[in-house]
Amino acid sequence: MLTVYRKYRAKNFSQIIGQDHVVSVLKQAVHDGKISHAYLFSGPRGTGKTSMARILAKAVNCLELKDGEPCNKCHNCKAINKGNFLDLIEIDAASNRGIDEIRELKNNVGFLPVEGKHKVYIIDEVHMLTEPAFNALLKTIEEPPQKVLFILATTEPQKIPLTIISRTQRFDFKLADENALLKKLKKIIESEKRTIAPAALEIIVKAGRGSFRDAETVLEKVISGLNFEQEIAQGDVENILGLASQDLVKSFIELLLKGDREKSFEILARVEEGGVNLSYFIKEILEEVRLQMMSEIKTAGNSENIKKYLKIVKEFNTASIEMRTSLIPILSIEVAITNLTLDKPITRSSGLKEKPIVKMVEKVKDEFVEPISNMPKQEKQSNNNVNQDAEKQVAVLNEHWKSILNAAKKYNHFLTAILAKVQLEADLDAGVIVFKVGSTFHKKRLESKETRKILSGLFIENCGFDVDYKCVIEVAKGKDKEDKSNSKLVEEFFS
Ligand SMILES: [Zn+2]
Repeated sequence: MLTVYRKYRAKNFSQIIGQDHVVSVLKQAVHDGKISHAYLFSGPRGTGKTSMARILAKAVNCLELKDGEPCNKCHNCKAINKGNFLDLIEIDAASNRGIDEIRELKNNVGFLPVEGKHKVYIIDEVHMLTEPAFNALLKTIEEPPQKVLFILATTEPQKIPLTIISRTQRFDFKLADENALLKKLKKIIESEKRTIAPAALEIIVKAGRGSFRDAETVLEKVISGLNFEQEIAQGDVENILGLASQDLVKSFIELLLKGDREKSFEILARVEEGGVNLSYFIKEILEEVRLQMMSEIKTAGNSENIKKYLKIVKEFNTASIEMRTSLIPILSIEVAITNLTLDKPITRSSGLKEKPIVKMVEKVKDEFVEPISNMPKQEKQSNNNVNQDAEKQVAVLNEHWKSILNAAKKYNHFLTAILAKVQLEADLDAGVIVFKVGSTFHKKRLESKETRKILSGLFIENCGFDVDYKCVIEVAKGKDKEDKSNSKLVEEFFS
């Protein structure tokens, strides 16, 4: 089966799209019979260098030439199109055979054409030739035999000796612009009797990045995966390319601008589940942000919005760099989302050193938990942030203590009973929270590994942060009796 790229390869000059500057000069030269001995076609891959070389080979051999265009009908044109024209020799310098073929070239170049008017050598990826091969080629080009035409093609002209370049007529092939790609793709879709949604076509054009070959390869993959009657939809192309849908990217950016962390994470989860390539995802975010930012700058110019866009660009640029070396690539995006939905970003190098989640959650709390009401008056002013944190935490814990007790019931009721007796206090010097308990047994229970684990979960669940606590025994006056009965119950349960 022919690939789309080969099947729809241009067969004459007028079918070549996007290289008008080359086409007009070559066509004129053929028309006037003023052909050079050697041409150099340089330019990125997929820009039509080899197609152009074959058309030129046909043009100089065509028996029914019209206005510099090959007819594609005469014996020579047909033979070249079929690939069995004896006087067209194509050499791939990148292949192992390249050197042997150049040696052969040197021996055979002097013989006259067998069936055509000109013997044509197309040397693809010519920059790959070895030094001896270049020397051999140079000698031939310096004193070109009659009726021989060399067409050298390369993606890296800087690797070709100047002595060679100076003996050729050079043409630089440009990357195709979007209009040219669009024109070509539309033509192929029409010939294949397919239909495509405009948005889907636009994505293929973008994915081609100026290369006909790349764009056509994508189109071919999409077509081969679909039924004949089916219209090619945006989603089909996105699937093939492993892209996140454009709508998804747009809503993701909208959420980031709003600072909606939860929903941003939801979208990220969907992206990951969908098997979307995360680097692509970042690239698409950056492309979309760039578009939105530019239109903001051009129109309203709201500086607040522009600042937000710049922040997104900065975070996702960092994420894309970090992702390459990260053991958990998605983490880089998660950090970017977290930073973008916080007022005070986390410094990645220092902030993640210890207890990253706790630190992150605490930051989140700082930003988003409403101002604490009934906050106990501070006895002494302290500039120590850690101490102040402990005091704030006590206030928040007190506020949520009832729901913590309730939630503890699902682990066991006696834990609830113990917790019900606990008095909270911030130890400002140590920067920890003190649980004042009624007995050694309670202290032991609360400080056990298992209970710490349970409480840690309950604290995060109810207050949004974990707590570093220690237990101190302090028997409340006048409540001894009650406490004893309670601890007895508890002891019985655990024994
Ligand atoms: Zn012809």
